[in-house]
Amino acid sequence: METALLNIIYLIASVGFIIGLKMLGSPKTARKGNLYAAFGMLLAILGTIFIYPKTAHIEVPGFVYILIFAAILIGTVIGWGIAVKVEMTKMPELVSFFNGMGGATAALIGLMEFSHNVGHTSKMFMIIAGLVIGSISFSGSMIAWGKLSGKLRKPVRLPKYNILNTLLSLVIIAVAGYIIATQVANPVYIYVLFGLALLYGVLFVLPIGGADMPVVISLLNSFTGLAAAFGGFLYDNMAMLTGGILVGSAGTILTVAMTKAMNRSLSAVIFGAFGEGSAAAGSGSKIQGNIKEAGPSDAAILLNYANKVIIVPGYGLAVAQAQHVLHELEELLTKKGIDVKYAIHPVAGRMPGHMNVLLAEANVDYDKLVDMDDINNEFANTDVVLVVGANDVVNPAAHNDPSSPIYGMPILDVENAKNIIVNKRSMKPGYAGIENELFYNPKTSMLFGDAKAALTKVVQELKNM
Ligand code: NDP
Repeated sequence: METALLNIIYLIASVGFIIGLKMLGSPKTARKGNLYAAFGMLLAILGTIFIYPKTAHIEVPGFVYILIFAAILIGTVIGWGIAVKVEMTKMPELVSFFNGMGGATAALIGLMEFSHNVGHTSKMFMIIAGLVIGSISFSGSMIAWGKLSGKLRKPVRLPKYNILNTLLSLVIIAVAGYIIATQVANPVYIYVLFGLALLYGVLFVLPIGGADMPVVISLLNSFTGLAAAFGGFLYDNMAMLTGGILVGSAGTILTVAMTKAMNRSLSAVIFGAFGEGSAAAGSGSKIQGNIKEAGPSDAAILLNYANKVIIVPGYGLAVAQAQHVLHELEELLTKKGIDVKYAIHPVAGRMPGHMNVLLAEANVDYDKLVDMDDINNEFANTDVVLVVGANDVVNPAAHNDPSSPIYGMPILDVENAKNIIVNKRSMKPGYAGIENELFYNPKTSMLFGDAKAALTKVVQELKNM
């Protein structure tokens, strides 16, 4: 009876995850989707706490329930507090941090369950796999968190880091294999494995610099899912298994999409060969030339007489929180009969889908957002491209400077447009830390200033025309 009830609860929870994930596919349904998935998780947690012990004939002492709920309360208060306060621009770091916590949890399961399962080869395999993958995900995510928050800006590359990382991964496989094969009971081995996996996570993410972080972030995301799925296997817990598999597979799909967007092979990602011969060789050629500055009224005139305008949003749009005024600008131009679209680069901003979320927040019509592959051949017949706080994703060095760390990355080909307006505050580089020859293009006008302030002035000018 209890087993049937628990299975039904886990089934409903899993359906909640799946429907929730499906609904996350569109900004219109994403908020509700999140709630469905959270409801599924709540059901799964309650079912596990109250019904699972009965099905497994485990007598849970009262104080254990007190400990569990105290832990849930502390976690909820901290998580809620951080999530409510976090600024939109800090969201990518927070996602990375939370992902790391998921990995840590999977690793802790491994540490705790090790001694109870010596002698069970298949269970030991699940424990070791969850521990290793979870630990790598935890320490790697912490480094990613540092990189995204700007605390760890420069890639740190030990000499021959590539060989070092490969050797370390082989040592981890050897120790893991030894533990599983011999069913050794000494806990020292599992702690050594834990330490090695943590070290691998650090060394794996530390050398990654330039513009390559999006791939790593989605890869770490899939690692956490996979580690949780091993926990699901271990406990024979359907909800944990489906949840883990969903996160793992969604993360893997995202990783493939990101590697495609960055034009990197997955094997290069896994074996830590990032930026080899490019970022390591230098940070691109020095650019010489003049820039042309434009004021808000010049920008407004250019936009006002265009037939077709493409807006390229980037990280600076999020920093300035200028999405609402940008939407106002777009509506104003559309009212004037101008064809306006947004060009979305898959790695613009600091997290996958960052621009979609940002623009959805300002109620921009989703149909106006066009992916890079679909819009790139439209630039040639575009009168004005308005680049707002984007830099790396429009840097032509990706096409024509083999010494650049972003060489080979597909970009938005804005230089093909008839006129280009670039809004940013200064000539400072973007995330990859490299100069951008687009700013020196004779077709480019630099509209300097904070995006919100600058666009507000452009809107004002347009209203007066
Ligand atoms: P970039 O980081 O290349 O450039 C952003 C630009 O915005 C800067 O050059 C900055 O110039 C400008 N800016 C900052 N604040 C403001 C402001 N208030 N008003 C106007 N402009 C501002 O961003 P992109 O979106 O072009 O590229 C994203 C980069 O981040 C890529 O290299 C990508 O690989 C990386 N990345 C992406 C992740 C993802 O998942 N999407 C994850 C991790 C990294 P200035 O200071 O002069 O104003």
